[in-house]
This record gives sequence, C-alpha cells and structure tokens, in this order.
Amino acid sequence: MRVHLINPSHVSFGVAVITPRWLYVLAAATPAEYGRPAITDETLEPLDPASIAPGDIVGIGIHTGNALRGYEVGSLARARGATVIYGGIHATLYPDEAHERGDAHAVVKGDGDVVWQRVVADAVAGSLQRVYDAGQVEPDQFLPARWELLPRDRYMWASVQTVRGCPKHCSFCSVWRTDGQRPRQRMPDAVLAEVVELRRQGFRFIALADDNFYPVTLDDLRTADRKKDKQQLHTLETLRAERFELMERLAHLPDDMVFFTQITMEASEDPDFLAAMRRARIRGALVGVEAVTPEGLKDVYKDFNCSGEALVTRLSAFRQAGVHVLGSFIFGLPSDRPETFDATAALAQRAGITFAQFVMLTPFPGTIDFARWEAELASDDTRIAGVPITRHWLIPQAKRPKVYTPHPTMSPDEIRARTQGVWDRFYSLSQVWQRSRCVRSLKARLAFVLVSKLYRQMYANTGIATDSARVARSTQWARWLAKPLRRLFAARPMPELQVPGGPVPGPAA
Ligand code: SF4
Repeated sequence: MRVHLINPSHVSFGVAVITPRWLYVLAAATPAEYGRPAITDETLEPLDPASIAPGDIVGIGIHTGNALRGYEVGSLARARGATVIYGGIHATLYPDEAHERGDAHAVVKGDGDVVWQRVVADAVAGSLQRVYDAGQVEPDQFLPARWELLPRDRYMWASVQTVRGCPKHCSFCSVWRTDGQRPRQRMPDAVLAEVVELRRQGFRFIALADDNFYPVTLDDLRTADRKKDKQQLHTLETLRAERFELMERLAHLPDDMVFFTQITMEASEDPDFLAAMRRARIRGALVGVEAVTPEGLKDVYKDFNCSGEALVTRLSAFRQAGVHVLGSFIFGLPSDRPETFDATAALAQRAGITFAQFVMLTPFPGTIDFARWEAELASDDTRIAGVPITRHWLIPQAKRPKVYTPHPTMSPDEIRARTQGVWDRFYSLSQVWQRSRCVRSLKARLAFVLVSKLYRQMYANTGIATDSARVARSTQWARWLAKPLRRLFAARPMPELQVPGGPVPGPAA
C-alpha cells in the first residue's frame, strides 16, 4: 500500500514558480510506517495513472479552480482500486460534491496537519468516516513540510507559511471565512527552522505563503488603545513583536536569500515595518490593490485601501523601502467603466509596480460575493454543458465562461477583451524594459524581461484567452521559458547552515 498526494491541474508547465506547500506538509503528516508518499504535482507533469495500484490511498487537495480536474483524478484513482480522500478549501466548502462528483471515500474539512494521520490509519483499517471536520489548528500544530522530498530542479520558489488567517473581510475572498479572522501566527523558531533547511538544500528564493503577512496594523493598535481594551492591545502588541523578531532573525541569514510575501497596503504606512522587511530581505509582496477608484473599493468592501494619487503614494512607499510590489487588480466591478481599464494600467505603471496581475471578478464559493450572486440566480436555470451556472467550476474548461457576474454597462466579452488588453499593455516589451531598471546589470535586466514574459504567459494567456490556439501556444512558451529561468533561481547548497541563534534539527524522517 502506498500513500499518494496529488495536486491536480489541467495545465502542466514542466517547471512551476512556487512549490505547492500542502503536498509536503501532508507528506510530513503521513505516518512513517506507510513509507515515503508518492507526490504528484500536475502543474509540472500530468499524473501517470499506472502509478496507482489497488489498495493505495490517494489524497487530493482541491481549490475551486482545480476541483474539476481533481474529481477526474479521484474517479480515475478509485477505478484503479484506490481509496480516495479529498481536502483543501473547495472540499471544505463542498464535501458532498467531492463524494458525488469525485468518487470520494472521505473528505477532510479544514486543516489537515493533525487529522491526516488518523485518516490514513482509518483508511488502512477500513473504518473511514464520510467527512472529517478538522477545523482550524493552532499555530504550534502547523507541521513543517518534508522538504527533503522536493524534486531538485522543478520549482523556482519554495514556500513557508508564517501565519494563517486574515482579520479583514473582503467580499471576493474566502480566506477570512475558511482560515478565520484570528491570525494564527507561527513562532519564529519554527519558521526559521524550515527556511534554514531550504537554504541548506539550495533554495534561496522563498515565498512566505501567508494569507496576510501584516495581520496587525497601526490603526488596529490605535483603536484598541482608544477603546482602552488592554487585553486586545496586549494580544496585538505580542503578534507585532513576533513579526519583528522573525524579520530580525531572517536578516541574519545568508545575504543571497530573497523572500516574497502577501500583504495589505496598510503596511506602506508603517515605516518601521517596511524597514524591518527590507532588512529581512523581503524583497517583494503581493498587494491586493483591487481597484483604483473609491467606488471600486467600496464594491469589494476594501475601503481600507487608497485610491487615486494617494494610492500611487502608498504603492511607491513599498518601492522606496526596497519592496517590489506585485499588484493585484480586479476588473468587472459594478462601478468599472471602459475608462477604468486604461486608468488602472496607467496607475500601475506610474506607481512603480514591478509586476501586476489583472483578474476578472469571479464569484468564488465561500465569499460574500458568491452568496449574493447565488441568491440572485436562485430562479435562473441557465445551464452550460448541463451544469448550473452557480456551479461554474464543474463546467468543462473549454466551455467555461470567463465572466459570470452581470455588469450594469459592459458585456462579458467587453470586460474580457479589455482585461486582456491591459495585460498586453502592462507586459509589452517597452513597458517591461522600462520597469527592468529596478535591477542593475544588463544580465539582471534580461532575466527580469524573461520572468515578466513567463508570468504573463502562465497567468494571463492560459486564464483569460478564449482562443484555444493562444492558450496552447502560451503553455508551450511558458514551458520553454521556465526551464532555463529556473536555473537563475537555484543556489549552491549550504548543508552546514545553522539557524541564527541555535541549531536546527535535520530533515524529518
Ligand atoms: S483579500 Fe487579502 S486582505 Fe482581503 S480578506 Fe482576503 S486575505 Fe485578507
């Protein structure tokens, strides 16, 4: 009997940008007596069905975007005689769907770190429950990933998690509902141990794969102080102090290391935090800008963000502190108009954003937007390929619409075409070359251009384009570009490296 862990994907690029961390965390949660788990990341290569034998246990992690492929993999595994178990955000939200569509034997809701061991034992004993409700585990129970199982030459960035949960409540996001609004923050020792292990293996680029790396804002502290809520103030100050301790210790790691994270824009108003990020070599951050107008921000319940010139100032503050911004923008908001697309592209360039992604508003399960949209369509029986539109992730990929939410003034196709136009403009050679001035040498500038092109091929053309030839061409391009680029991310292993301030245990058995 073998345990398989599978990250499903319809598209495989041969090389991936970021390691899917959950695969290696569940590998750590798999009891040693069942041997080394077989890990398949389909963003690299499709699953080889022959690798699954009768009696094997197959764990499949799904989010809404890859649920359909996950169900195909599950059905295939069950047909080969395996026991099929689903987990991940989508399975947490729709456990029955995984049974009905994906031939599940069991579904795990919530964090798998602790419960997976029991699930595997139950599967072996033939006493699986239909659903395991694992809930949210505490930070001292987050498992370190088994990085020694990572293939050497496939990923550009490794990923380490420092905090789960986000105190905000953006309408298009499910994180605060599934991971909770209370930041569950790992202690610096645990984070450092994983980071050091990765650097020992030759990874110098590490994504701090958090919901929100800045869970306590200056405003939160002021509010607790104003309300004279001593308990809350103490909790927030402790969380903040731990962030600073983590960053201070990251700063003592080898100076070729580079970190990237995900953060809210409020961090730009916190000079001490930005300075600590710089010292820690957190050189980049995904910032959810979402919209450049106040109306757009109201649409997504994100009024803690800024718009217009104030937005340019905030985004520029990251840049001035040495933190490159990957700005994330949403198109198709009710207040968007044709001129919003150009205004967004111009602002992104003016604010000195290094990378940007432009996504189309999609009602994802678990979000406020989805609940509202689903209720509005309660009496609408539109079906595509026999699937109700409110279950859009079950529509075969080729027939899936790109835009679902009716817009007051623009057609879905206009939104899609204008979004594609902004990608084309932001990633045009002239604009990319202009932005490449953020690095110094000619070699680094050329690498910047290639990474920008790769990013655009992987995320824009395969996600937005309706033309299947364009999608196929982009996949080929991305495969071709990714291999040589990955080498730029590799570093000489440092097997002797120690955690600043103390020794680190070796890899998990
Ligand atoms: S979009 Fe970002 S800030 Fe908003 S709730 Fe989700 S994780 Fe938090």
